[in-house]
Amino acid sequence: MHVKNVTNAELEKALKVLNEKMFNGNIVWKRSPEKYGTKTRFTLTVKKSAERGGRRGFQGQRVAAACWHVHGHFFDAVFNQVPEAIFSAQGKTITLTNGNWEDSPVGSMFNPKSFSQMCDCTHSFEVWGVNFHDPSSVAFESEADLPDPQEVE
Ligand SMILES: [Zn+2]
Repeated sequence: MHVKNVTNAELEKALKVLNEKMFNGNIVWKRSPEKYGTKTRFTLTVKKSAERGGRRGFQGQRVAAACWHVHGHFFDAVFNQVPEAIFSAQGKTITLTNGNWEDSPVGSMFNPKSFSQMCDCTHSFEVWGVNFHDPSSVAFESEADLPDPQEVE
């Protein structure tokens, strides 16, 4: 995955907010943000696949990867700081007004699923008391909610 118009500090801040507000410290970089040309490359994953934000495979097995909701909330946390951020992943472009929270079909004809079902977020409210499945229920209501790393005490 890569992104344009965003600094590494802004990506780190988005990750921090995500972990503090929703995912309980379970989201980490698989590949830390790294500049190449005008873009920054990065990959998100989870520390523990059984914890918040962990993905499941087609057979329901736990996979060491971050789920669709982690990415949706992460993009939102970046857009809160940098509305002009442009992400691209797997041939899709995601901007503030287009592409985020769009589901994609995965699986096969005999086992059709959508990407948003490949995790436990549907039940997250029952399990963890937070609803990761509904983007409108997110805790990032305002920019004032976001801690500012540039703030000097
Ligand atoms: Zn999920």
